Amino acid sequence: MSRKAPRRIGIHISIAGGIQKAAERARDMGCNTLQIFSSSPRQWAASELSRPHCEHFLRLRENYDLKPLVIHTNYLINLASSDQLFLQKSIEAFRGEVERALDLCADYLVLHPGSFRGADRSRGLLQTAAAIAASTKGLDLVKGGLTILIENSAGAEFSLGGSFEQVAEVIHHLHGIIPVAACIESAHRRRNYRP
Ligand SMILES: [Zn+2]
Repeated sequence: MSRKAPRRIGIHISIAGGIQKAAERARDMGCNTLQIFSSSPRQWAASELSRPHCEHFLRLRENYDLKPLVIHTNYLINLASSDQLFLQKSIEAFRGEVERALDLCADYLVLHPGSFRGADRSRGLLQTAAAIAASTKGLDLVKGGLTILIENSAGAEFSLGGSFEQVAEVIHHLHGIIPVAACIESAHRRRNYRP
């Protein structure tokens, strides 16, 4: 006999006032899963997650049966950037995202493939994959139960991930390196990536 898993429904929820508040908000709205930013999505400097808040958040998620936990990465990160300084900054920021996701016992970390201005598309996709691999070096995503989700994008002129084939290409490059899968965005808002 097959047992169907209960359907999981949730939305992106603010962590204003402390990460534990997101769990309360999710429950109040009747969600049984949630997506959050683990820091401000438009700032490079990440705010420190306080240990007691993290532990409180984990307990609440357990009590309210809120799973999976999805984190969406900062909008400034562009792992396909052809500007070396910007790329380095993006790699460091993405590594911080992965570390925070592991600290929070998140199940998924969502990333847009970025923008390849100045290079060709397939090189951009390859660079994004290489930058993801570099950012996660030495971090045990398997042990942490964390999967990186590559999310499609609106497909603006230089943006990567405008088609499912491009998302698949990044996943293919990372196969066997880290746990990776796809996330489908249906809102399709255009984002303005930096260099
Ligand atoms: Zn997104």
